[in-house]
Amino acid sequence: MSLASKSQPQSVASSAVYQVPGLDSHEMDSTADKTFERYLSNTAKRNGKGVSIVWFRNDLRVLDNEALFKAWVSSQAVLPVYCIDPRLFQTTYYFGFPKTGALRAQFINECLADLKKNLMKKGLNLLIQHGKPEDILPSLTKAFGAHTVYAHKETCSEELQVERSVARGLRQVVLSTAQGNSSRSSSTHSPKLQLIWGSTLYHLDDIPFSVGSLPDVYTQFRKSVEAKCTIRGCIRLPTSLGPPPSVDDWGIIPSVEQLGLHSEKVVKGMRFLGGETAALSRVTEYFWNKDLLKIYKETRNEMLGPDYSTKFSPWLASGSLSPRFIYEEVKRYEKERQANDSTYWVLFELIWRDYFRFISIKYGNSLFHLGGPRKVEKRWHQDQKMFETWRNGCTGYPLIDANMKELSASGFMSNRGRQIVCSFLVRDMGIDWRMGAEWFETCLLDYDPCSNYGNWTYGAGVGNDPREDRYFSIPKQAKTYDPDGEHVAFWVPELLPLPKEKRNFPGKSYIEQVVPLKFGSSNKHHSQRSKYGGRHSGLGNR
Ligand code: FAD
Repeated sequence: MSLASKSQPQSVASSAVYQVPGLDSHEMDSTADKTFERYLSNTAKRNGKGVSIVWFRNDLRVLDNEALFKAWVSSQAVLPVYCIDPRLFQTTYYFGFPKTGALRAQFINECLADLKKNLMKKGLNLLIQHGKPEDILPSLTKAFGAHTVYAHKETCSEELQVERSVARGLRQVVLSTAQGNSSRSSSTHSPKLQLIWGSTLYHLDDIPFSVGSLPDVYTQFRKSVEAKCTIRGCIRLPTSLGPPPSVDDWGIIPSVEQLGLHSEKVVKGMRFLGGETAALSRVTEYFWNKDLLKIYKETRNEMLGPDYSTKFSPWLASGSLSPRFIYEEVKRYEKERQANDSTYWVLFELIWRDYFRFISIKYGNSLFHLGGPRKVEKRWHQDQKMFETWRNGCTGYPLIDANMKELSASGFMSNRGRQIVCSFLVRDMGIDWRMGAEWFETCLLDYDPCSNYGNWTYGAGVGNDPREDRYFSIPKQAKTYDPDGEHVAFWVPELLPLPKEKRNFPGKSYIEQVVPLKFGSSNKHHSQRSKYGGRHSGLGNR
């Protein structure tokens, strides 16, 4: 039995598009409504005055949204705002790729439409504004006399720069106290920017280290937080958060074309639906309906179809899904069904996500620099033609080509695939890892600077952990993770007629290989060091 067939129905390789989640819209709405119902608070009290603003960023959800909760508590009217920042549609930093690809733009649009719908169910709405937050938010605070802008804190430089500019802009706004606050004095004040931590499983304030002394080895970090920290419960909201202040025009979500991109349709592979409703439905589908959580550890390294892993990442990255909610669902599953290595392993992976977020604070911009956090000096090249064979999936290695085609066509690639194509680009091709990272930045639905650049620096051997230096042997990976060539045949259909064992090794019947493999095609010396356990032989064995 192939690895893929353990968790996938046979139909995966023959059908074309898999909607994720696979529920219909009625089932999704009812799943979300029931989940919101379970997370209601009957005790939350509102004791503020005036208007507060919630500035939505990468936290496009209602459930477990502390910024939304605090805005509600501290005001009589909440104004939720999302700014369509033109900078997100410019180009990547070094190599000029589109900063946001069309598929992610479409996914975010769906997240916004769903957020608006769910806020309306709670008696609010979502004001969509086009422009830079530092221009929009100060003028909104002025127009509505809002005393505070609540938002979730980010950690990487571009986002921090926006936070600083917003704070600066708000300091220029002068409100009369009577307009925006409860005090009766006639003094003036400026609206405040209140930033809230809310993107990780473990809260920044709860981890047992200062960020500067964060361990450089993941296992040390994980063991410490598991032993010494508890995960905070999800924030519960009352039934209604209304009313919003009176707004003439709530704005509209632009089409992908209006954002200056060519709209793309997923015609093959997974089609992820954006939004919190879909996110909550995917949790229900994966954990409860399909009962896949109990086998996650055995299937998570596969590459084909919706069910070998959770597929939570696009919603986590947009903030439509809270990691603390996933934690609570894992615990509920463990109580009601079973607890095993697999149920734990989803949390283990989420702690990786936390780790990369905290590492981004510790190492700042070096995460984006060629030498990475350790300032490693290595020779790289930027051969454009060679890079394009990788990007377009024409390297002559079916495993690489299939994964790269999947990325372009669907905005997704398995974790196994990402590690393999990263290793091939940096180690077999010797290409500047930032070119790969920026292409991922363009394409991934789940793009998140911390996880993307964190993983790329690891893959390139320039990450914070000096022990992580991995070469992935293409033949070995193909034999282990795509033994019947199902993944490559799905994405490179000309390989389908070949015998299964030949699909990854088609010889002359496929395009010519652009580079030889660094360690040839025998498996003998292709050891790899993996954080995932198992094949820990390390580059030292080469
Ligand atoms: P599952 O296997 O179901 O894991 C559950 C969750 O754990 C994921 O949704 C994710 O939030 C987290 N997780 C799992 N593995 C990792 C990891 N290695 N690093 C951080 N978090 C992890 N993930 C992103 O979310 N955004 C990125 O931009 C991103 N870029 C990557 C680039 C490279 C080169 C590599 C090797 C990995 C990258 N990852 C990134 C991590 C990982 O590949 C994806 O999170 C995962 O494949 C998403 O699929 P899933 O939700 O089914 O994961």
